[in-house]
Amino acid sequence: MTERTPGFSTLAIHAGAQPDPTTGARATPIYQTTSFVFDDVDHAASLFGLQAFGNIYTRIGNPTCAVLEERVAALEGGTAGLAVASGHAAQVLVMHALMTPGDEFVASKKLYGGSINQFNHSFKNFGWNVVWADPDDIGSFERAITPKTKAIFIESIANPGGVITDIEAIGNIARRAGVPLIVDNTLATPYLCRPIEHGADVVIHSLTKFLGGHGNSIGGMIVDAGTFNWSREGRYPMLSEPRPEYQGIVLHETFGNFAFAIACRVLGLRDLGPALSPFNAFLILTGIETLSLRMQKHCDNAKAVAEWLAANKHVAWVSYPGLAGDRYHNLARKYCPKGAGAVFTFGLKGGYEAGVKLVSNVKLFSHLANIGDTRSLIIHPASTTHRQLSDAQKVQAGAGPDVVRLSIGIEDKDDIIADLEQALAA
Ligand SMILES: *Cc1c(COP(=O)(O)O)cnc(C)c1O
Repeated sequence: MTERTPGFSTLAIHAGAQPDPTTGARATPIYQTTSFVFDDVDHAASLFGLQAFGNIYTRIGNPTCAVLEERVAALEGGTAGLAVASGHAAQVLVMHALMTPGDEFVASKKLYGGSINQFNHSFKNFGWNVVWADPDDIGSFERAITPKTKAIFIESIANPGGVITDIEAIGNIARRAGVPLIVDNTLATPYLCRPIEHGADVVIHSLTKFLGGHGNSIGGMIVDAGTFNWSREGRYPMLSEPRPEYQGIVLHETFGNFAFAIACRVLGLRDLGPALSPFNAFLILTGIETLSLRMQKHCDNAKAVAEWLAANKHVAWVSYPGLAGDRYHNLARKYCPKGAGAVFTFGLKGGYEAGVKLVSNVKLFSHLANIGDTRSLIIHPASTTHRQLSDAQKVQAGAGPDVVRLSIGIEDKDDIIADLEQALAA
């Protein structure tokens, strides 16, 4: 019999997991423990010295989290994963492995608002300097590169405006510059887009959104593609120079094509500490089992809602790359052929007042600041998340007074549309 490569939906259920060796439990158990007993003194020494793989302490690794790591790495086509406490923690750990104070990274300016804040303020305090580039002008990434550049950071589908980023074109710029391309694949999930196939060297996730999928747990993931040569120019000393605390081990030399995931674990997670709770790992694993079914339904519903809104008399514009005629439609067909995701914005002819009224009148939709739940979610950024900005800054951030953001759930699409219809009429 020839060895079959399992399909995506099979991996989403089985990758990384097997019946528990001691109890036979079929679902992955929640290993709710801080620490793990060593076999003997030699075993303990080899674990601490990175000569053997095994469990020590849940801040550095945990068997429930390990199943989640293997599962997401398999779905993305990477060599290894590292589960952490949140999407933002994943971003901190990735940059911690790459940057020293005074270094730069180039980031798309079309990003999740929380990431823009993190890069502009907290990362600057660490001496990690962001240089912004425009995904609608690919050359701006190349022009932003300097000898201090250590990475390029983009989102595959950018939150919230339905922007599809040209991963391949920016990956080529990263390769010419000799820096890794980091792709935040939160809004697409590997069901819609696998950035490693298009040139990403590192993929990160907020598991909080579609991967967990049920709005019940915060989590993050780093996936190492195993593609980047960390030793070539000595630009990444954490990976290419001897580690004093590990008897002079060179991580890239010792761990090869999963050295980046190891660096994020044994230096970043160990020292900065944002470990994922095994309980959250369990909930997120359960969510991932139905990823294929949920994402397809999310996308099909979102397309139906976007088409309905585009034909509504109260609506000025709809920004959804799944619509024919959208400026990102061709990129969506290339990178996300199964669907353009479920998060998008639209504009109301009635401006600010109409936006406030709409979020007050919906009944099925929840008015809150999250995305990627089974439930349909709505927010009016100008009166909430972007309230503190000036009007000009709001428009610049894609959060003008008329803008409403939706995250379409997996309820019956007729109910979702009926709720918008009654709220727009009110
Ligand atoms: C939510 C989100 C994050 C941050 O993730 P948390 O789990 O909330 O820390 C990062 N990137 C994108 C695209 C997101 O939507």
